Amino acid sequence: MMTGEEYLRSVEEMRIPIYIDGERLDNAMRHPAVRAAAAAVAATYDMAHEPELRERLVVRSHLSGEPVTIFQHVPQNTGDLVAKVNVTRYLNRRLGICSFRCIQNAYAPLLYITRRIDLEKGTSYHERFRAWVERMQREDLLACPAITDPKGSRKIPAQEQLDPDMYLRVVDRNHQGIVIRGAKLHQTGAAFSHEKLVLPCTTHRAGAENYAVACAVPANAEGIVHISVRQSQDDRRRRDAEIDLGNIYYGVHECICVFDDVFVPWERVFLCGEVEYLGELVNLFGASHRPTTGGCKSGWADVLIAATQLMAEYNGLERSSHVQDKLADMIAIAETMYSCGVAAALRGFELPGGGYVGDPVLANNAKYYASRAVFDLIRLAEDITGGILSCCPSEREMRNPEIAAWLARFLKGVDGVPAEHRVRVVRLIENISWGLGSILHSATHGGGSGQACKMSLLEFSRLQPHRAEALERAKALCGITA
Ligand SMILES: Cc1cc2nc3c(=O)[nH]c(=O)nc-3n(C[C@H](O)[C@H](O)[C@H](O)COP(=O)(O)OP(=O)(O)OC[C@H]3O[C@@H](n4cnc5c(N)ncnc54)[C@H](O)[C@@H]3O)c2cc1C
Repeated sequence: MMTGEEYLRSVEEMRIPIYIDGERLDNAMRHPAVRAAAAAVAATYDMAHEPELRERLVVRSHLSGEPVTIFQHVPQNTGDLVAKVNVTRYLNRRLGICSFRCIQNAYAPLLYITRRIDLEKGTSYHERFRAWVERMQREDLLACPAITDPKGSRKIPAQEQLDPDMYLRVVDRNHQGIVIRGAKLHQTGAAFSHEKLVLPCTTHRAGAENYAVACAVPANAEGIVHISVRQSQDDRRRRDAEIDLGNIYYGVHECICVFDDVFVPWERVFLCGEVEYLGELVNLFGASHRPTTGGCKSGWADVLIAATQLMAEYNGLERSSHVQDKLADMIAIAETMYSCGVAAALRGFELPGGGYVGDPVLANNAKYYASRAVFDLIRLAEDITGGILSCCPSEREMRNPEIAAWLARFLKGVDGVPAEHRVRVVRLIENISWGLGSILHSATHGGGSGQACKMSLLEFSRLQPHRAEALERAKALCGITA
């Protein structure tokens, strides 16, 4: 298992190029925004080596029997699913930001579906995917989920789009492999992940076989172009800021990945053309990934609540009844997000030949709830923090000797707490709410839009026996017998 330093060196050595801030860098790791995000990942690698965390973070691979981190493990029971929710909450609480270790949520669904396709079609996807997972485990590599296609007009199927590359597709194939073309958007950690696990973002119908593709590609493969996205307040990082960053250690980073005719050898192709299996794969990935949301967003919320509580103290309001009431509301939201994740994990089930995934209704509910609840969380934080959240001078002004004394006096709250501490907390709240490490964007669309989760929730709930039973009871209770 790699240490943080070994992980950083390994991605540095891959020299993943990126377009960022108007220029092309030969190695993304040279950019401060990428480095700050990679630092969060490195911290998770280091945590696995901390003696007191080892028991929680290191497990035995059911594939190789070797010790692997929980981030590489294929869940083998509901206990493993719950552990992932708990660990994610812990990581995000410790980092105050995304921990980037979710790729494992794709393992069980893909192991299962590849086995099914092999059994029904005589293909050999399962062994290939299993070999890839074993390598991920053995070499302790990081992969980015490359799922979100550009999609063009959302109502038009892939094969009918004016631009045929609005969904990533196979444009050529021979006995050695396939060539893929298109793009994947909003790629978290792509510029500092060793691998990309390419998956379809939606189902496709017959006639769209070329769009049905799952494969793994090294991040520095020929033909891949990384284009950095802008994040709110990201230019603060270029100006050697510290306090203004809010989270002075860690960041997040997303980019657009263009696949400009990328060759993928067959041993890295896990599905190619089998459109009829995509519905199940996409749904199972949702059920597998979305319980993690409960841990992820509650961990983030833990830090936001703590920072808001500090702000109340610095303002002399910690005993005020309405502040207590609002903090209780924030805690209730965090614990509900967490409970939704745990419940989905506890009600998980086994996929033959795959591993365990969460209950689809409860998993989609976890993500749907979080996508709405974070807005309330941030509303409450902003209410307690006050107008300074959006009207706070920069640290350059704080440090300017001509005006620093005024700011030290007038930005102070209670006696005994320097203005700088208050400003640091304000910046952290800003960071988590809508800044560099925003929980808002991550909860609203990361892992699928709230609306998509709500639709899945409705669809899967129709299969629940207690819904049919309730319908019968409703009729019976009011006397409808026919
Ligand atoms: C912070 C962050 C990190 C992310 N990280 C990753 C990552 O690492 N890897 C990755 O692959 N993706 C990632 N994503 C992408 C994320 O999964 C998508 O943003 C999400 O699935 C929504 O897709 P979209 O952005 O294209 O929006 P859209 O799909 O356009 O959604 C916008 C709205 O339109 C609705 N809509 C969409 N299609 C239809 C339709 N046909 N009919 C009616 N309504 C429709 C949606 O429900 C939603 O309400 C990330 C996103 C964010 C914000």
